[in-house]
Amino acid sequence: MVEKLYYSYTELHNLCKNSSNQLINDFNPDVILAIGGGGLIPARMLRSKLKIPIYVVSLSVYDEEDNSLNEPRIVQWTDFENLRNKRILIVDEVDDTRKTLKYLVDKLVNQEQINRENLGIFVLHNKLKVKEIGLNELDICYYNSGKNVEDLWIVYPWEN
Ligand code: 5GP
Repeated sequence: MVEKLYYSYTELHNLCKNSSNQLINDFNPDVILAIGGGGLIPARMLRSKLKIPIYVVSLSVYDEEDNSLNEPRIVQWTDFENLRNKRILIVDEVDDTRKTLKYLVDKLVNQEQINRENLGIFVLHNKLKVKEIGLNELDICYYNSGKNVEDLWIVYPWEN
């Protein structure tokens, strides 16, 4: 049987609550940019503490037949016109290969002309493994993972 990690809503709420002071002190975001679908619930949990607006982009690393893609596919984008000078906290549930975060940061910088210094990332979990890109190379202002975990499949409570 494949070993999996299971988390409850309470554990995830606690991760968000415990990270929120650090997020405010070290990055102080103006808005949350949730990556749908997995980042939506963590973004809402964080907002209880951060009390800032949530924007959403929806990305998928799978096609309609559930085959994994080399590059994430945009399901829905958002209008960044009013966010150019805001400090944006990107929120997702898990940093696995980091392909999704790299793709999004590249798009925000190159397509939406958002300054890397205005970009931060929060994920509930960071899998300890070789990544598509190192944090130095990603070159954003702030990165916070609620918890570093083994490279196992994580089952979130909203998937049960
Ligand atoms: P990436 O490999 O780009 O870092 O992760 C892409 C996406 O795959 C994540 O946003 C998440 O939706 C999904 N994913 C990766 N690993 C896991 C996992 O262990 N559990 C769940 N539920 N989703 C995962």
